[in-house]
Amino acid sequence: MINVFNIEKFAIHDGPGIRTTVFLKGCPLHCPWCSNPESLSLKPVFMHDERKCTLCGRCMEKCESNAISISSSIENYERNNKTKELFVHDTDKCILCGKCEKACLNKAISIYGKYMEIEEIVDEVMKDIDYYESSGGGVTISGGEPFIQFDEFMELIKILKKKGLHVAVETTGNYSKEKLKKAEPYIDLFLFDIKHIDEEKLKSFTGADKNTVVANLKEIPVEKLIMRVPVIPGFNSSEKDIKDIIEFGHKNNVKIINLLPFHPFGTIKWQQMGKVYQYENIPIMNKSELEKYKEYGKSMGIDIKIGG
Ligand code: SF4
Ligand code: SF4
Repeated sequence: MINVFNIEKFAIHDGPGIRTTVFLKGCPLHCPWCSNPESLSLKPVFMHDERKCTLCGRCMEKCESNAISISSSIENYERNNKTKELFVHDTDKCILCGKCEKACLNKAISIYGKYMEIEEIVDEVMKDIDYYESSGGGVTISGGEPFIQFDEFMELIKILKKKGLHVAVETTGNYSKEKLKKAEPYIDLFLFDIKHIDEEKLKSFTGADKNTVVANLKEIPVEKLIMRVPVIPGFNSSEKDIKDIIEFGHKNNVKIINLLPFHPFGTIKWQQMGKVYQYENIPIMNKSELEKYKEYGKSMGIDIKIGG
């Protein structure tokens, strides 16, 4: 069994062609800009969408742990006191049983993370084999960090390769070299994150260990490697930072780099988890801001793509 939080069909940004992307739970890092915060913990995650919630109370009736309540608060609006009702979820009491999710007719509650049999995932992936064959696509394992559930991940990619599929993995590179060496023969493409080359900054923002990440990057055959750089304002978006990262790629024979412009689309998910997203008010980065690096990469023989 492997802990999955989403299976996305017809993905076109996670490797070549049309793909199915399987998102696994658990990540060793804590990047504050993460747009999939439901992936971070290996435990299931409760999310409530107040835009869909009509405060009907059905979920509250089904919850045997008394973890849901609808409370009233008095708000002063144009000098008139108005009563506003609020959905309240108590994480300490919640045992993540999922009864509220089933009870909600508006799909306002989602619990992310469920254990699936490896065969169940393979069956789901194989449903779109015709699309993979006609488009040169395949399957991408993403997360979280797929290497966190290592034994199950290995079992999955071995079966997918046996089925003749193109297997890509989106990875942080933050795990032991032994694990990478075991998995590498079953992976056709690594979408490998390099977030910063300043060791201290990388550590303090994300928790990643630069030496581990770089050592793993060097292990991957260059024809299997695309380096990915999420460009984050205030972290690595200066011209010097981006050029340093491109030069780092050049020194390590990287031939393709994807610069991924920042977007704040994760905001809603953080809110639904009852957390504050630190990048909520940072505007989306325009792709055109990164276009200039294409020439810089070209001068070193690197194909720079913006997005993807
Ligand atoms: S059942 Fe759904 S719509 Fe009703 S209160 Fe619960 S979350 Fe809101
Ligand atoms: S997941 Fe279960 S325990 Fe948690 S709020 Fe929903 S019904 Fe209650």
